[in-house]
Formats: sequence, structure tokens, C-alpha cells
Amino acid sequence: MKTIYEKLVATIKDAAEIAGLKADDYIFFLTPERELQVSIPVKMNDGSVSVFQGFRVQHSTLRGPAKGGLRFHYAVNIDEVRALAAWMTFKCAIADLPYGGGKGGVAVDPSKLSENELEQLTRTFAKKIAPFIGPRLDIPAPDVGTNPKVMAWILDTYNAIAGEPTPAVITGKPVPLGGSLGRVEATGRGVMFACLEILKRFNKSLKDKRIVIQGMGNVGSVAGELIAREGGKIIAVSNSRGGIYNEDGLDITAIIKHLKTNKTLDSFTGDFKRISNAELLELDCDILIPAALENQITEKNASAIKASIIVEAANGPTTPEADEILSKKNVLVVPDVLANCGGVVVSYFEWVQNLAGYYWTEEEVNKKLQENMLQAFELVWNVKIEYDVTMRKAAYIKALKQLVETQKAKGF
Ligand code: NAD
Repeated sequence: MKTIYEKLVATIKDAAEIAGLKADDYIFFLTPERELQVSIPVKMNDGSVSVFQGFRVQHSTLRGPAKGGLRFHYAVNIDEVRALAAWMTFKCAIADLPYGGGKGGVAVDPSKLSENELEQLTRTFAKKIAPFIGPRLDIPAPDVGTNPKVMAWILDTYNAIAGEPTPAVITGKPVPLGGSLGRVEATGRGVMFACLEILKRFNKSLKDKRIVIQGMGNVGSVAGELIAREGGKIIAVSNSRGGIYNEDGLDITAIIKHLKTNKTLDSFTGDFKRISNAELLELDCDILIPAALENQITEKNASAIKASIIVEAANGPTTPEADEILSKKNVLVVPDVLANCGGVVVSYFEWVQNLAGYYWTEEEVNKKLQENMLQAFELVWNVKIEYDVTMRKAAYIKALKQLVETQKAKGF
């Protein structure tokens, strides 16, 4: 069976073939430029020592510094980080940002660590990757299991090594440390724009559309709240322990409020039915938004999917095998590299503000994000029409053409 990275390579080759690109032109993008694996010893609260594995992969620095998040999750491994890094290369090209792609992570369940243990782990990881990151080299950001506080620990550690304040080394940091207004909400806001844009292609709006969201973390909850504000009806949501469903709609504000103080929906009460994540994915709805992890829609459940549109908030939630099945069923998939690019777009804005030392209002950030996403969406949609392919293939064709053009301009 192919690994996630091998499947991604197949997707890239497929897009290259449709675009008529020669292997010698795109071969550069099939292998990551640099991979780092580090061990992270942590003195636990009970006095024992645990050693965790950490990774940072720079898939490409052709268009600019590597850019991409840091994931803290027990299942993190080098193949997953490699794929996540490569997705960033394509995502940044689609959003037309002057960045390459990178990603990192630590194989750890952060919910099992105390705050002190988590801080130690983060600071030691930061020390070990410090020689490989930098404002012009590789700029990490949050992902699953990390947040602005973790970014602040990394920044503080990096500053101590650099001997000067270097806010542009990391994005998604707290606003008082140079974070951008609107960054926490950016990915979810972008997902909402992606929903609006795809519906617009069919002269529809979000009003009364039935929306299902898998994963109520940073991205899923912001997307849910903003979609509800646009009139969408959130009928089901979940986290890793399971979901809740009410065909007349859920109170998304109450759910988010509950999740701010409780990690799960277990103690949330109200008028709904409890469902499993597997059941949630197969619900009858207008838009399904996977916003958790990779490999959620596979050849096993794709034929049972009833949504007519899938907007991929998570990275890699649909396997290539499932993609084929969905395409045959005429389910329209707005791919991750487009649907969730709002996060990296506002990370770019944050980096620009840090380098300039000049800060924008939240309104400016949101407006520029919308402009950027609408443009990216339009370009991908045009390629879809031109080549008569899925939106995923169109996104890869568009990005690959840009990457190959840059590679050629640079010379061998
Ligand atoms: P997060 O850690 O804030 O939230 C993840 C959520 O998914 C949690 O609620 C968790 O309980 C839930 N979850 C985990 N496994 C699940 C499962 N099997 N079924 C249902 N729910 C499950 O992470 P996030 O930052 O919201 O990231 C979510 C996805 O979005 C990831 O794929 C990430 O790579 C992608 N993404 C995030 C950003 C960002 O800015 N944070 C940007 C682009 C893409």
C-alpha cells in the first residue's frame, strides 16, 4: 500500500501529465529538499525522562522560504510531515505567495502533558530546529495540537539564540508578540469564503444550506461560526471522540463556548443525537467540511457520502481512491490546497507586517485575505473548466505550471 507521500507524488505526476509537462521539468518537486529528525528529552513532572521524536521537512524553497505549520499529535511521523510539507509548496503557489513549503511536528499527545512538560518539550524542540529555521529560511506556524502559546515559546527560544527579537521567524504567534490580527480565524474564514465561492458558481448562497463539520478545533469552529453568520445551518459537528447531530440545526455559538472550557462534547447537553465520526461523514447534507486529519474519506466510505460538495478544511482528508469515487458520483471537492489556504495567506501578512514593523487593522487583514482567496479560487476554477478536470487536478496543474516556470527561470 502506498504511503501518504507516495500518493501525493502520484497526484503530482497525474497533474503534470494532463498539463503536458516533461518529467525533467517537475522532477524537482517529487523529493523534499531537506529533512531533519531530532530527539527531544523531557524531564516529566514525576521525575522520569521521556524522549519524543520531532521532525521538520523543507519540501521546496524555490519560490521563497519554506512555510508551514508544526503539528503535535501522537501519530506524527516522517511520511506524514513530508506530505504536509509538499502540500504547503503547492498551497503557497496556488495562493501566489513568495514561499516554498515546509512542515514539522512532534509525535506526542499534548493532552497527556502538563503545561510545564509541554513548554519544556516545545523549547527543546525549538532549540534543535533553530539552525534550520529563520525569517528568510523556514517559518513555522500552528497546526493540529499547537496554538499561539506554543508559537510564543518557540519565538522566545529562537530570540534567545539569535540574540535579537526576530518576530518574523514564526507566524500565528500572540498579537502582543507581533502576531497578526485575524490570524487565529484566518483558515476558518478562508474555508467560509471557499464555501461561498463554490456556491456562487451555481448561483446559490449559504442561506439554509445544511453543513456538516468534522473536527471542531481551531479551523472547524471558526468556519462553523462564520458559516452560521452567513445563514448556513450547521447540522452536525464532531471532535475525535464523536459528534452530535440535529437536522434542524445546532447552536454553534453554544458548542464553541462549551469547547473553550471543556475539551470534548461529552458533557454538552441539548436537543441533538450523538453520532460517531463515521456516521457524521455519511450524513445527508449540502456541504461536508472535513476539518480534522488526513485519510477520513477513503474508498471504504466514499460511495456512502451524501454531500454534494466537500470543502476540505483539513489537509489530505480525502484519499486519491476516494477522489475517483466522488468524482464519478459528481461530488464537487474543493481541495485542501485551495480551501484552507487562508491560514498561510494571513501568516504571510503577519510576516510582512513583522518585517515592515507596520501593523494592519483586522478589517484590512480580512479584506486582503478575501481578495487573495477569491483570486486563487477563480484561477483554479478557470483551469478546471479549461482542462475539464476535478478542482484538485486543476489546483495541482496551476501550481505545477507556476513552479516549473520558476524553476526554468532560475536555471538548472
Ligand atoms: P486543532 O488541533 O485545533 O483541531 C483538530 C480537531 O480535530 C480537534 O477538535 C480534534 O478533536 C479533532 N479530531 C481529531 N481527530 C479526529 C477524528 N478522527 N474525527 C473527528 N475529529 C477529530 O487543529 P486545526 O488547527 O483546527 O487543524 C485542523 C486541520 O486543518 C488539520 O488538517 C490542519 O493541518 C488543517 N489546517 C490548519 C491550519 C491552521 O491554521 N490551524 C491551516 C491550514 C490547514
